[in-house]
Amino acid sequence: MNLQIIGHGIAGALLAEIASQNGIRVSVWADDSPASSRVAAGLFTPVTGQRLSLSWRADDALPEVDRFYPDLEEGLGCKFFHPLPTLRVFTSEKQRREWEEKPKADCVHPLNLTEPRLQASLRTPWGVVYIEGGGWVDLPVLLDALEQRRKSRNEWGRNPKPDLTVHATGHQAARDPLWKAVGWRNAHGDVLTVKIPGLPTDFIYSFDKFLLPLGEDRFRFGATYHWDVDDPVPQPDGRTELEASLKNTLALPYEIQDHQAGIRPVAIARVPIIGPHPEQPDQWIFNGFGSKGVLYTPWLAQRLVDHWQTQRPLPKETQSLRRIQRQRDRLKGIREKG
Ligand SMILES: Cc1cc2nc3c(=O)[nH]c(=O)nc-3n(C[C@H](O)[C@H](O)[C@H](O)COP(=O)(O)OP(=O)(O)OC[C@H]3O[C@@H](n4cnc5c(N)ncnc54)[C@H](O)[C@@H]3O)c2cc1C
Repeated sequence: MNLQIIGHGIAGALLAEIASQNGIRVSVWADDSPASSRVAAGLFTPVTGQRLSLSWRADDALPEVDRFYPDLEEGLGCKFFHPLPTLRVFTSEKQRREWEEKPKADCVHPLNLTEPRLQASLRTPWGVVYIEGGGWVDLPVLLDALEQRRKSRNEWGRNPKPDLTVHATGHQAARDPLWKAVGWRNAHGDVLTVKIPGLPTDFIYSFDKFLLPLGEDRFRFGATYHWDVDDPVPQPDGRTELEASLKNTLALPYEIQDHQAGIRPVAIARVPIIGPHPEQPDQWIFNGFGSKGVLYTPWLAQRLVDHWQTQRPLPKETQSLRRIQRQRDRLKGIREKG
């Protein structure tokens, strides 16, 4: 098969790499529109939401994360995979109670905060828990290395006659006439780089936001979610919201060094969407990774390649034909009612 991939964020980049590893003839290219993968903190974790429930299909996706990124680091000869536990700080009594009352994921453990440096750094009146199995991926390092690999193998550029084209165009798909019908609920996010001398770097910190250690006292700090902003430009309101949250939890002085923003590609149904277009079967989509591109792309890119090579069905929830039909039915229902 002659495969063309449009887009070189994490979705297009990992699909190109995994397809190429499996013997598929690949060409990949991107225009210079902003990629949210270049702004993302790159976190992955088995749990989601305030109640720390296990994420959709985390048992399938996480083992792929732990296998794929370290193998790729070795092959590319650079470092971008950073496993790191998370310290989750509850920000209200209600939040803690809700977590206590829910069935617990095995990777979440209660913790008594006795370490003096942590006690001096954080406000934790409602306690903390410890989450194993997460970490972060330095996406710019990974994407630059994969772009070099594609170029060195003549796999970078447009293909005038592909058998199949996969659109991995992130949030831009919502403006694309071909993929508008999927139904999108993209989410703008602001993220800061802050300097916090004295904050221990053995953890990712999660409260209503996250703090991710980068080295030399610098941390990525984010992120906001806003559904009414279409352009990936930093919002002053976003910075204000982030600072308010930081002051609630952090007991140390900080200095803001940078402010960036991006748009998360979120398809209605909130699960990634994969497969052909209903009317144009040689045009496929690999998108909708929301805030979990790092967790889901290795597993789902491999599943997509397996689907092409062995006809193994894609996970039911991701299938584009089903999803687009549902969205069309939904819109028809709304039109008929109104
Ligand atoms: C503030 C913030 C924090 C985040 N933090 C995390 C996190 O910690 N962990 C995590 O997993 N995810 C996080 N995310 C989400 C993450 O960014 C996405 O899940 C992921 O980057 C989506 O990757 P993608 O490849 O689908 O899209 P993108 O990274 O946006 O890439 C799209 C690609 O398509 C190209 N393109 C678009 N349109 C066209 C066109 N018409 N022609 C040619 N090329 C085109 C672009 O140039 C780009 O190369 C965060 C997002 C934001 C905004």
